[in-house]
Amino acid sequence: MRAQTSTSLSGSRVVVVGAGILGTMHAYAAVQRGATVVHLERDEVPHGATVRNFGLIWVSGRAPGRELALALRARELWRDIGELVPGVGFRANGSLTLAVRPDEIEVIEKAVAMSDATERRFEFVDVKEIQQRNPSLKGNFLGGLFCALDAAVESRQALGALRDAMTASGNYEVLPHREIVALGDHEIVDHRGTHHQGDEIFICVGASLSGFAHELFQGEPLRSVRLQMAETAPMTATLTTSVANGDSFRYYPAFRDFAEVLAPQDPGDAKYAIQLLCQQRLHGGLTIGDTHEEESPARFETRDEPLDRIATLAASLLGDGMPSIERRWSGVYHQLADPTTDEVYYRKRLAKGVSAITGAGGRGMTLAPAIAEESFP
Ligand SMILES: Cc1cc2nc3c(=O)[nH]c(=O)nc-3n(C[C@H](O)[C@H](O)[C@H](O)COP(=O)(O)OP(=O)(O)OC[C@H]3O[C@@H](n4cnc5c(N)ncnc54)[C@H](O)[C@@H]3O)c2cc1C
Repeated sequence: MRAQTSTSLSGSRVVVVGAGILGTMHAYAAVQRGATVVHLERDEVPHGATVRNFGLIWVSGRAPGRELALALRARELWRDIGELVPGVGFRANGSLTLAVRPDEIEVIEKAVAMSDATERRFEFVDVKEIQQRNPSLKGNFLGGLFCALDAAVESRQALGALRDAMTASGNYEVLPHREIVALGDHEIVDHRGTHHQGDEIFICVGASLSGFAHELFQGEPLRSVRLQMAETAPMTATLTTSVANGDSFRYYPAFRDFAEVLAPQDPGDAKYAIQLLCQQRLHGGLTIGDTHEEESPARFETRDEPLDRIATLAASLLGDGMPSIERRWSGVYHQLADPTTDEVYYRKRLAKGVSAITGAGGRGMTLAPAIAEESFP
């Protein structure tokens, strides 16, 4: 692993708990800076939010200001990581958000006129241009928003690829089946009673919590959001960009100021807070989603109705060639309870040298490298 930064952690020991993207990016950043890293994970391999996500590195929807700045920095870091660790599957494929109604077209016109539209690399594209850039889109739409900065990674292989790269450095050890059960200054204790000491310790245990980790976040300004997702059989054609539908304008904060332009959402889609996002995997299948639910306790089952709706929305943009759904799953992320705060994620000092980091919401995959960078100023 080549160092990307001049900040040296040579001679220091860093302990990371949780092997999702936030924990893994902390471990990666520490190894790059020359630290010795011990990485604990509750499960045999991580199967939290990270391996369940789209793998979208999504700059286009970020709120102006701090959130956009963090996303732009993260996008640069992902590009560099993609070069150093090809197994993460980074590709700068851009995105197309497709409008099917005049009100959605109006939002796109406003979006490309935003003061930071150039920074976001936004472009209004007409139907002909869309079909030139992404010939697999043969369905019904009136135009689109192209964002050249949006990108994708392979979420199910990225964590393993990063662990392999860190292991090759000789300064990294991952310990699976180790659940954190206590902490103190510069120390955490796993369920076997082993004490792990570090100059800095980062607790990145995500949102699917139990026992001690659950108690850590009780009463904190965080909420859990559950999403339902699906993946199709391989599609023979290539989807050259990531794809979203106009409902995503309702949910991404970049477009918050244009909310009143949009006609009410279809009640059936609104019931599950559906937006269509679609990313073709390297093996050809399409990851499609998603819904947003905040019920507590969360349901354990996935429901056919919202996923069928999402599949219909995707098919209407593709026109033909939409493969059948092969698998369905759900995932949970932590989000800051107050969406209007300037904070983009949750960071808290729990003891000397021990910090908890979570709450990046539906943008954690995007932001993780930049969040980790902020941990090593
Ligand atoms: C369905 C879905 C789709 C999404 N799509 C995107 C997307 O396309 N782009 C984007 O930017 N963001 C996306 N997100 C958000 C993103 O996935 C999350 O913000 C991010 O993955 C959170 O990473 P994490 O490391 O905090 O959590 P996780 O990935 O959940 O990892 C936490 C890890 O900690 C481990 N752990 C838990 N408790 C303990 C313990 N006590 N001891 C040891 N280990 C423990 C868990 O086993 C787990 O492996 C999506 C989220 C979901 C759910």
